[in-house]
Amino acid sequence: MPYTRKDDKRYQEELKKKIIELKKKKNAVILVHNYQRPGVQDIADFLGDSLALAQAALNSKAKIIILCGVYFMAEIAKILNPEKKVLLPVKEAGCPASDMITVRELQARKKEIPDAGVVCYVNSSAATKAESDVCCTSANAIEVVRSLPNKRILFVPDKNLGLYVKSQVEDKQIITWRGVCPTHVRVSLEEVLEAKKRYPDAQLLAHPECEPKVLKEASFIGGTGGMVKYIKNSGTKRFIIGTEQGLIYRLKKENPDKEFYSPSNHFICADMKLTTLGWVAHSLELGLNEIKVPEDIRVKAKKSLDKMLKITYGK
Ligand code: SF4
Repeated sequence: MPYTRKDDKRYQEELKKKIIELKKKKNAVILVHNYQRPGVQDIADFLGDSLALAQAALNSKAKIIILCGVYFMAEIAKILNPEKKVLLPVKEAGCPASDMITVRELQARKKEIPDAGVVCYVNSSAATKAESDVCCTSANAIEVVRSLPNKRILFVPDKNLGLYVKSQVEDKQIITWRGVCPTHVRVSLEEVLEAKKRYPDAQLLAHPECEPKVLKEASFIGGTGGMVKYIKNSGTKRFIIGTEQGLIYRLKKENPDKEFYSPSNHFICADMKLTTLGWVAHSLELGLNEIKVPEDIRVKAKKSLDKMLKITYGK
């Protein structure tokens, strides 16, 4: 019998069943980022943004955490849960933005501005987190920066998020790094204006990793968790989603009466799309791609994450 698309759908459903069985048998929890493929989102025990996934990892009682996202997210789960096995289904799923800083570079910059507090976006390596005073996500970056006593803040590695924080926190001097998210900077002002012209009654929601000129056009600026909440509480029917397209699947599922459009056909993070149901099943079955973080780095990075969680959740 020739292979057909129909078989492919059946195969996906069989994989989902297999993953659910394996999960029970191995006492695992599946944490899935909002940018993942639809099929992977469907098997999530917990679906969310980086901050929500960090919190879910912390609260989990499971023995194994399978993190469907990119490397730094799995590292966060390991930092917060050293006694658990943390698996990343595809070990090559990295984040180019997080690789735009090295520990040596950060150490050198810190020496140049010793009075500055170092705030590190969670989209960074465990080693960068360990070298920082506190972490932040796109959801709490402003709150975290405001909470520090330092007048000068070195914000790493995402430049656009740093510039956005700078525009909101006037009483501090924010020094940004040169990192950017290649997915979010790919979306141009022209594309956004074109989408607004095409859907004049729609609101534009934009992620702070986008270029400042794109953010200027937005009705709402925030991370994916913030977008989910904003849309749920909004009376508006149509939205242009200024972030990775994976979020649209979740938005459509949770808001069947509303409409969502992407301003660009290439608003896709290739690393986030590496994870498939097949890889999840494979990794869970064989315990593959276990994340390890050296203990000295883990302890220091945990301090930066704990500080952020305390600022955000008060515990
Ligand atoms: S969307 Fe950008 S920041 Fe997020 S994982 Fe992909 S490259 Fe990294």
